[in-house]
Amino acid sequence: MDVVFINPAVGQNYQSLKSRYSAIEPPTWALLLAEAMRNFGYDVSIIDANAESLSEENIYKKIKTLSPKLVVFVVYGQNVNAGTTNMEGATKLSKYLKFKDKSLFISFIGSYVQALPIKTLNEEDSIDMVFTNEGVYALKNILSLTEINQKTISKTKGIALRIKDQVKINPPEKVVPNDRMDLDLPGYAWDLLPYDKQPLDLYRSPMWHAEYDQDKRSPYAALQTSLGCQFKCSFCMINLINRDDEDEIGVSSNYSGMRFWSPDFIIKEFEKLIEMGVKTIRITDEMFLLNKKYYVPLCEKLSKLNTEDSLRMWAYSRIDTIKNPDTLALVRKAGIKWLCLGIESGDKKVRLEVAKGKFEDVDVKKVIKQVHDADIDVMANYIYGLPGDDNLSIKKTLDLSLDLCTSGWNTYAAMALPGSLLYKEAVDKGIQLPDTYSGYSFHAYDTVCLPTDKLKAWEILKLRDDAFQLYHSNDKFLDRIKFRFGDKAVNNIKEMNKIKLKRKIIEENLY
Ligand code: SF4
Repeated sequence: MDVVFINPAVGQNYQSLKSRYSAIEPPTWALLLAEAMRNFGYDVSIIDANAESLSEENIYKKIKTLSPKLVVFVVYGQNVNAGTTNMEGATKLSKYLKFKDKSLFISFIGSYVQALPIKTLNEEDSIDMVFTNEGVYALKNILSLTEINQKTISKTKGIALRIKDQVKINPPEKVVPNDRMDLDLPGYAWDLLPYDKQPLDLYRSPMWHAEYDQDKRSPYAALQTSLGCQFKCSFCMINLINRDDEDEIGVSSNYSGMRFWSPDFIIKEFEKLIEMGVKTIRITDEMFLLNKKYYVPLCEKLSKLNTEDSLRMWAYSRIDTIKNPDTLALVRKAGIKWLCLGIESGDKKVRLEVAKGKFEDVDVKKVIKQVHDADIDVMANYIYGLPGDDNLSIKKTLDLSLDLCTSGWNTYAAMALPGSLLYKEAVDKGIQLPDTYSGYSFHAYDTVCLPTDKLKAWEILKLRDDAFQLYHSNDKFLDRIKFRFGDKAVNNIKEMNKIKLKRKIIEENLY
């Protein structure tokens, strides 16, 4: 076997939400890389430790049986912070594997190591090498070597590695160019995923995506029709996959840019999923409804596949590109029943400052009404604790969300995620940052969010957690859910809302 891709377990980042409520996402990048390497002629396998809840010893045994030249941990996840928080489970496993067998050559790929390759290798001696961007060509070059060790890979572009206790970062490798997307990233190795009774049944969507109905959550898949984003939001680290420098700290907003698969090519991946019986699908693109040249033909093709309106999909959009009723009608016809919108803040000044170029000054209420009128539900995303936030602006954000009354509500406390501009600025200013990977989780016990000039970190996290409970028990919201999805959905939300997250920084009034 040439290479084994490992999707590590997510650990305790979701506290009590993990067993029943948090999503279990298919490992998108493990699937893309596996298919790409298979296409280049290499023998590949995927171990999804998360979906299968495999023990460390069982993973070790599987690896020994496969006997790969290279082990690649692929550490991303369902939320933007997951590339960091999932390092918790990933490094625990890599330590175990290295302890069991020193000769295993272990590499990591994912947003945390893209942001902090030097720090990772200095702190994690179970990792031999990391990829500094999406890694397609660097991985291909490494697999072409007869033997893989520190010496043979020492000049490979697009990696950082340890040579005799010295850590070094090599010059960057290019990412797959737009005109080679269909060729060098030729889809998903779905057949390599584990399953129980039918393909993709070990995965489950977020609750809201399945209309708050547990029975509709599986089988579940996620796929990208494009990669990256052209914007430069200071809190985001999504563009690290495009990294093209050798700096010690990677900053995502320096690498913004989008690449697309052709609609004719990517529609075949949807067809495969539908043939496998998957109807609940996440379109993971950061900005699906941005470029008409791609999304219009794709939605037209999807409309033909959405017989009996059975597809249940969601996609991200920026808020000012969905004002057109014809666009919304087409999107709905394609089976996209939810749009995920980053509204971020109820305070215009705060919003425009962090979301550089992401939206013009739009009438948010009017846009949400248009989306609702098109029979599409909205998952609205907000952030508390952005630069400039105080009690008043956070209250404005909560009031706006209650007023918009969308069927989905997601609010995070602002974090300086590794790879974001906020992280680099926090390091430069000496601001307290989490000292564990799970500290970057939005839902963990040891979550540490950012303070603002007016609010301490614990105050912001408390405002966020209190607002979650308040929104999900609000009568206007529950009435909407009952109208859209029925009593079962309302009861599921009430059950979920009984879970209260424990937070160390709130208990101890920290930072
Ligand atoms: S719009 Fe901003 S937050 Fe969204 S993916 Fe792009 S850079 Fe990230």
